[in-house]
Amino acid sequence: FKEYYSRERTLALRDIYIPYCTELFYRDNPLKIVRCQNTYMYDQLGNKYLDCINNVAHVGHCHPYVVTQVSKQMSACATNNRYLHDNTVILAEKLSKTLPKSLDQIFYTNSGSESNDLALRLARQYTGNYDILVLDNAYHGHLTTLFELSTYKFKKGNITMKEPEHVHVLPIPDIYRGKYRDIDYNNDEEKLCQLYVNEVHQIVEEVESRGRRIAIFLIESLQSCGGQIIYPKGYLKQIFSYLQSKGILCLVDEVQTGFGRSGTHFWAFQSYEEDLVPDFVTMGKSMGNGFPVAALMTRRSITQKFDKDGIEYFNTYGGNPVSCRAAIAVLDIIQREKLMENARDVGNHLLNKLKEMGAKYDIIGDVRGRGFFIGVEIVRDIKTREPGIEEAHEIKYTLRQHMIIVSLDGPDHNVIKFKPPMCFSKGDADFLCDKLETIVRDCQKKKNEKQEPNM
Ligand code: PMP
Repeated sequence: FKEYYSRERTLALRDIYIPYCTELFYRDNPLKIVRCQNTYMYDQLGNKYLDCINNVAHVGHCHPYVVTQVSKQMSACATNNRYLHDNTVILAEKLSKTLPKSLDQIFYTNSGSESNDLALRLARQYTGNYDILVLDNAYHGHLTTLFELSTYKFKKGNITMKEPEHVHVLPIPDIYRGKYRDIDYNNDEEKLCQLYVNEVHQIVEEVESRGRRIAIFLIESLQSCGGQIIYPKGYLKQIFSYLQSKGILCLVDEVQTGFGRSGTHFWAFQSYEEDLVPDFVTMGKSMGNGFPVAALMTRRSITQKFDKDGIEYFNTYGGNPVSCRAAIAVLDIIQREKLMENARDVGNHLLNKLKEMGAKYDIIGDVRGRGFFIGVEIVRDIKTREPGIEEAHEIKYTLRQHMIIVSLDGPDHNVIKFKPPMCFSKGDADFLCDKLETIVRDCQKKKNEKQEPNM
C-alpha cells in the first residue's frame, strides 16, 4: 500500500494541523495503520495487530463484499434521499424485521450522534415536554445536545461543567461498582434490581414535584463507555413500563451494541427480555462497516407529530443509496456468515477463559460480558475494589507490544474492553488469552512483591 509520508512526517504534520484534543490511541507512540483485513490491522512496516476493539469494522475490516457493493453503487448513483431508490426501502424493510412490529419508521442519518439528537427533537415535539433522563456515565454523542447529557465526557479533564437543569441523572445499575453492590446483597440480582428501580421512581417523582416534565429517557442496552456494564435482569423492563406509563419515551442506544453483538439477539436490548418495546432505537457504527451510515427507528404515531406540525426532515447524506447499500451488505454478511452465532460461541469461549483467569489473579476484580461485548475490571484491591488504574494501563500497553489492541474504559479507565469485529475467531481468542495471562501474571507478581518486600 502506498505511503505518502514516513510515519515521523505524518506524526509531525498531524501535530501541526490536527488539534491535540482530537483523540489518538497510544499518544506517546501512536500507530500508523495502512491496511486492514478481517480482525487484523497492519502498520507501515507490515507488522500485524490483532484488533479486539473495532466495532465499526463489524463484519471484518475491509470485507470484500461491502467494498465491492459500495464501489458499484458509488459508480451507479450517489445522490440524496429526495428521489426514489430501492436501497432506501430494502434496508428499511430488512431492519424493521429485526425490531418489534411497531417500530417500522426509519430516519437515516450519518452518525450515532445525529440519530440521538433527532430523537430528542422528536420526543420533545411529540410529548410537549423538554427534560431528559439518562444514566450516570452515559455517552450518547458529541453534539452539544448530547454532550451535555453525557456525564462520562464532562466528568473528565478540567471540565467543571455540571449537567444542565433539564438533564436528570440516574445512578448506574452496576452491581459490581455501583451504589448497590452484589457483595452487600448476597448477589441477589432481584433485590439489586429493585433497589435501582426504586432510585428511578424517587428521582422522577422528585423532578416532577419541581414542576419539570421529562420527554425522553436514553439508555445504552449495555453501557460501553461507562465500563462494559450489564444491568440486572428485569431493570430495563421495569423502568420502561414505569416511564412509558407516565408518557416518557424510552430510547435504546444500540450504536455500540447492535447488529448481533450480544450473540443471542440482533439488538442487545432484546437479550434482557424479548418483549421489551422501546419508543426509539438508534444505531450507527457497525451499520456500514466503516462507511458512514446511521439511523433512528421509531413508531408512526411519533413521526406523524412532525407531519401534523408541518416539520420536514432532510439530511444531505443521510440515507443516500451508497450508505444504504453498505448497510444492506452488512446485514447480508451477518446472516450469510452466521456472525451472530459466532459472537455467541466465540464470545462464550472468551468469556469463560477470562473468568478462569479472573479466578486465579486478584488484580482481576470482575469479568462480565455478553457475546462480543466483554469487560475485564482491573482492581488494586480485590476486597475494596479500588480501581487498578496503573495496572490496567500497563496491561493495555504491554498487550500492544504483543501486537494486540485493546482499550480501557469506565470512569476510572480500569476496565479492559473487548468488542472485536464479529469474525473474531476461537484462534484469535486463544492467542489473546495466552498473551493476556502472561502479562496479568507478571503484573500480579510485581504487585505481590511490592506488598511483601521481605518475603
Ligand atoms: N452512542 C453511543 C453509545 C456511542 O458509543 C457513540 C460513539 N462512541 C455515539 C452514540 C455517537 O456516535 P457517533 O460518534 O457516530 O456520532
